[in-house]
Amino acid sequence: MWHQIEQSISEYTQKPFSIKQKHLVAGGDISQAFQISNARQSYFVKVNDLNFVDNFNAEAIALQSLALTQTINTPNFIEVGTSKAYSYLILEFINFSAPSDISWYQAGTQLAYLHKASSQPMFGFDDNNFIGKTPQFNRWQSNWSTFFAEQRIGFQLELLAEQDIRFGDIDEIVGIIHNLLKPRKLNASLLHGDLWRGNLGFSHDQVYLYDPACYYGDYETDLAMTELFGAFPAAFYQGYYKVTPQESGYSTRREIYNLYHILNHANLFGGSYIEQAKQHILSLSEL
Ligand code: ADP
Repeated sequence: MWHQIEQSISEYTQKPFSIKQKHLVAGGDISQAFQISNARQSYFVKVNDLNFVDNFNAEAIALQSLALTQTINTPNFIEVGTSKAYSYLILEFINFSAPSDISWYQAGTQLAYLHKASSQPMFGFDDNNFIGKTPQFNRWQSNWSTFFAEQRIGFQLELLAEQDIRFGDIDEIVGIIHNLLKPRKLNASLLHGDLWRGNLGFSHDQVYLYDPACYYGDYETDLAMTELFGAFPAAFYQGYYKVTPQESGYSTRREIYNLYHILNHANLFGGSYIEQAKQHILSLSEL
């Protein structure tokens, strides 16, 4: 596999590349990550089982979709490949370092410009992808409340029901979410889709987004997720809202949108996320 990776990089750069150093990179929770280097260049490689190749292809498509907007940095995509036993994703290596307040502000403005960049009339994406390890379906849909209620909340509830975890009648819960989002009028934005602190980094005071789960939807879903596990620094929101001021009703929608990620965590990790999901659904049904 490593020889194949050397060849892919050599073809991509049009210069011979052979690995002189290989280090594990910490921080991922799904794949093994490596920094590989020769005397001049480093590359970032994620490795997983062979059957993970669909996930890597989806990640590559998402990274390239973000890059096409030319609004915010992402690591350059080099190649997805497979060997007999493994699949891998090769990206440009970014040397991350601690951000300053001004770079958080700029990250906020750049995310806002990403969200404003699209003129997509529908909600969804050309490809299905994954949120964490969970499949994420992106069938095109003209109605946002239907899209989110069915393909985000309904689907997660069905996966939980397959594990015998139920919070009530699925159609009823989907109906509640649908009704709550019905008044929302919006243009579809290209979303990062999994925007927690572990999926962005800074290098030379420039933000880089990685590990995306892109689709076209409500930009507030990205903002909501930044607040789910403890908010980003205030400068980030100052930057964002300077470009796109906060809309009324956001704090309620934030709770609706974050239910998706709480349900996904309940699906992936169980434990206290199940109780959190139950309480979250209860409070939404009382709105
Ligand atoms: P996983 O899919 O396993 O969760 P991530 O894509 O989140 O893995 O990457 C794992 C870690 O590797 C991140 O937390 C980040 O610190 C680092 N990382 C991600 N992309 C790059 C990159 N292009 N260059 C350097 N480091 C990276």
